[in-house]
Amino acid sequence: MTTAEPTRQAEAAPTLFFRDILGQERALGYLAMALRQNRLAHAYLFLGPDGVGRAATATALAARLNCAAPTSEGEACGDCPSCRRLAAGTDPDFLILRPASEGRQPQIKIEQIRELRQLTAYPPVGGGWRVALIKPASALNDAAANALLKTLEEPPARHLLILAAAQEGDLFPTLVSRCQKLTFAPLPPALIRRELEKRGRSPAQAALLAALSGGSLGRAVMMDPEALLAQRDQVLSDLETLSRGGAADILAWAQRLAKNVAEADTFLTLASLWYRDLLVLEAGGPPELLAHPDRLPELRAMSRAGRPERWLSRLAALSRAQRHLAANLNPELTLDILGFRLAATGTWT
Ligand SMILES: [Zn+2]
Repeated sequence: MTTAEPTRQAEAAPTLFFRDILGQERALGYLAMALRQNRLAHAYLFLGPDGVGRAATATALAARLNCAAPTSEGEACGDCPSCRRLAAGTDPDFLILRPASEGRQPQIKIEQIRELRQLTAYPPVGGGWRVALIKPASALNDAAANALLKTLEEPPARHLLILAAAQEGDLFPTLVSRCQKLTFAPLPPALIRRELEKRGRSPAQAALLAALSGGSLGRAVMMDPEALLAQRDQVLSDLETLSRGGAADILAWAQRLAKNVAEADTFLTLASLWYRDLLVLEAGGPPELLAHPDRLPELRAMSRAGRPERWLSRLAALSRAQRHLAANLNPELTLDILGFRLAATGTWT
């Protein structure tokens, strides 16, 4: 998208109701209280990772503010003209400002903020509130941030600005200080797993996706579950091969994996989750905590063989390799060393 205008459309499937937002009771409770007491701030900073409900909360807030017949539970009705416009993504009083170009460093530009400022000179079209979501606010370039600061310093009536960012350090302190901060937590893996199963993922897929999601439902939904399980099976078979310790096998494995650093990183994560699962079982943890519950019989058999110190040293070797890849050290060399470390500890369990 290259338009400099604020984008007048909601997310693909706009969330109108707070009750559909998972795992953010603290942030939602705070907003519900502010709504009840009529004490909403004029600008909020929604902090948290992608895919945990910040944009959905902004939409639900806009729906609730402009709804003609909110429910006694404090939700929008979902059926009045304002709710319908919002659901259809055609509400002129709900704006999302996104980076104007998808280059290497997408930016929200000053023209977009100027457009917004011009708009705020007029009251909201529907007579209620105008809500603008800026996401991610870290994409504001210096000029845009300065222009936005003026709006925050003289907040227009019946306007609500919501800045979404991963962390406040991504923004100018002057912007942060003029917003009310609200933190959105990463979601617990068990909650993500349940939600994924509701959306049709198998228990094995859901467990693995949840373990790799970093607490972001959005991220878990975007990953391809079948490809991931196939990759996991490959990882387990590679671990077994490596443990036999043939130098030629190790070097061939490192050479294959080094071609794609992202894939190498996934290998390291999946292998780490395997040893983490063994430690969970060893400690008597419940199978619900496992990333590989479909391999439970195998995990149990290995766990009974009980070599926790070996699992820990493998975890340490995997995490060292992960750090080296992240630091752009030579991938093939990093993987060669890892392969020999894994081989040196004997059988793969
Ligand atoms: Zn309504």
